[in-house]
Amino acid sequence: MINQFTCSSCGFVVEVREGMERYAVMDDGVKKGLDPENEESAAMALTGKTMRQLAEEGKLGVWVEALCAGCMATVMTDRDADPRKCPECGGQKLAAAYELAGSLCPKCGQGMLGSEEEELFI
Ligand SMILES: [Zn+2]
Ligand SMILES: [Zn+2]
Repeated sequence: MINQFTCSSCGFVVEVREGMERYAVMDDGVKKGLDPENEESAAMALTGKTMRQLAEEGKLGVWVEALCAGCMATVMTDRDADPRKCPECGGQKLAAAYELAGSLCPKCGQGMLGSEEEELFI
């Protein structure tokens, strides 16, 4: 599900996917997200290996989508394994969806980011 946050001051809108997703590491080191509905066959299609083989090789991880306060890019990041650093700009302020709600707007630094979740369901 997509979480949308809007700044109360400048109207800046952030859209960040909520929740964790498993990823597999390809032979060349590139990480690819696995379809949560069907991780096993996604893993097989991408790497030719089962989830179990990947786990044994240490090639499975969990990442979340996060917003970089430096360049406003949304990036996938593994909170345990990856350096807390934006691959786009090198900035170190990455915030996942659950950290964005009620936080200071990275764009104007004045308003608060509020979730419009409720309104979306009306
Ligand atoms: Zn703002
Ligand atoms: Zn960045």
